[in-house]
Amino acid sequence: MNIHEYQAKELLSQYGVATPTGKVAFREDEAHQIAKDLNVERFVVKAQIHAGGRGKGGGVKLATTLDEVKRIASEILGMILVTHQTGPEGKLVQKVLVEEASEIEKELYLGMVIDRSREQIVIMASREGGMEIEEVAKKHPAKITREYVNPTIGLLPYQCRKIAYFLGLEGKSVNKAVKFISGLYQLFTEKDCSLAEINPLILTKSGDVFALDAKMNFDDNALFRHTDIEKLHDPSEEDPTELEAKKWGISYVKLDGNIGCLVNGAGLAMSTMDIIKHHGGEPANFLDVGGGANTEQVTQAFKMILSDPNVKAIFVNIFGGIMKCDTIAEGIITAAKEVGINVPLVVRLEGTNVELGRKMLSQSGLNIITGADMREAAKKVVESTQAG
Ligand code: GDP
Ligand code: MG
Repeated sequence: MNIHEYQAKELLSQYGVATPTGKVAFREDEAHQIAKDLNVERFVVKAQIHAGGRGKGGGVKLATTLDEVKRIASEILGMILVTHQTGPEGKLVQKVLVEEASEIEKELYLGMVIDRSREQIVIMASREGGMEIEEVAKKHPAKITREYVNPTIGLLPYQCRKIAYFLGLEGKSVNKAVKFISGLYQLFTEKDCSLAEINPLILTKSGDVFALDAKMNFDDNALFRHTDIEKLHDPSEEDPTELEAKKWGISYVKLDGNIGCLVNGAGLAMSTMDIIKHHGGEPANFLDVGGGANTEQVTQAFKMILSDPNVKAIFVNIFGGIMKCDTIAEGIITAAKEVGINVPLVVRLEGTNVELGRKMLSQSGLNIITGADMREAAKKVVESTQAG
């Protein structure tokens, strides 16, 4: 689960990690009031969306007067912000963070993720902050340092100092960075983060070390033990169909192609997308109805697939293991009748009671194309989208 920058900064300050002072605003008059209460000379107004690259897209602006804050807030609120992470459709901005602007001496980078192959948290740092770290990693890998944390011992002070020196910090800034990194590590482990990225981490003209930006991601499977984090969830940032799917216990991810997929089991769903691509088609979605889906879930799944205007054909690929093929066939027939499917529907069934299931489909009166196996079905569905 992702959270907003302003929420991440609130968490960071709870853990003693230094951030600029500021607050979130939903309206321009609120932004004005927050700036007034800050009682400082320079302000920054920042769009709050779950995507980076806001600066380049025009979602981060500096201001020197209260009126300017108000004007910028009114410009940013309600805008569709397009960045390299939002895709061309962009994201609607519904809130802004109003902060005291910082005097930047240097923009640095600090990130924490779990290295799954080493089974350790890795801290990454670079002097090349502010820009995309992926670019730095590609072009100048030596400019990034990695410090691995032994989970039994935890992060040691010398490791924090090592990172601080790599970042080129000196004097009292080193101690500030040590406090910063250890606070972030504590937050990361206590709240079951999967990613924390501070880009940029800044050194100010007065030698302070601040998180100017903050991106945090939490392990969904651990949210049950962090109700405080769960509350930070912002449904308006998610794809409406993906949200709807969650409610029904279906895993759905929208993709760019035109072949809708309805599959049981995540592994089979992946190979279904692979085989569609293999035959020259493009999947419109990943969809896993789960091992024991009922008619209602199958109906919902069809509705979700058909809500995507790009869908030109549907590929149902089911392995009846826990569930029997006749149950699945019944689900498909009921769903198809209820929803009304006006694109080619290709079905591949395999598993328990497969003969009965196939018979039910062929006698249903529905225009269903069947495939004897996965390869044949995939071929047929791709052909159906190319036919006209
Ligand atoms: P992102 O573009 O979504 O990653 O948003 P950031 O929060 O990282 O801001 C983008 C850039 O705006 C930063 O790299 C800074 O160069 C600039 N910026 C943001 N806040 C301030 C500030 O308080 N003072 C100054 N001088 N620049 C800022
Ligand atoms: Mg940033």
